[in-house]
Amino acid sequence: MSENDCIFCKIILGTIPSEKVYEDELCLAFNDITPQAPHHILLIPKQHLDSLDSADKPHRDLLGHLLLTAGGIAREKGFGDNGYRVVINTNSDGGQTVFHLHVHLLAGRQFIFPPG
Ligand code: AMP
Ligand code: ZN
Repeated sequence: MSENDCIFCKIILGTIPSEKVYEDELCLAFNDITPQAPHHILLIPKQHLDSLDSADKPHRDLLGHLLLTAGGIAREKGFGDNGYRVVINTNSDGGQTVFHLHVHLLAGRQFIFPPG
């Protein structure tokens, strides 16, 4: 999929609507359209990157920023007391369906491990 066809790039551009949770110069966070938990937030870099498999050393700060931002949102929303889960599905076996790197932040129920 090219960046022009990427639904998450369109969300960043605003041509596809989203329920925004947080935004800064590097990333955007919004509610997942098909939530898998009472709270299900996606964090995406504003720079298109297909997946974690496409990330390399130049993306180190960006990946750190996404994780710290996920933790910050979780803290701000009070998810930390009961706990939460952060997931990055990667490529086919990882269950990735949208090929713009994203971090799932899930909270509000008990999660099992290992996931299916
Ligand atoms: P993954 O399966 O890890 O690639 O996750 C993709 C996620 O994007 C899924 O949880 C979808 O529900 C979510 N998603 C797809 N389209 C949209 C959209 N337009 N707005 C919000 N979330 C979306
Ligand atoms: Zn994209």
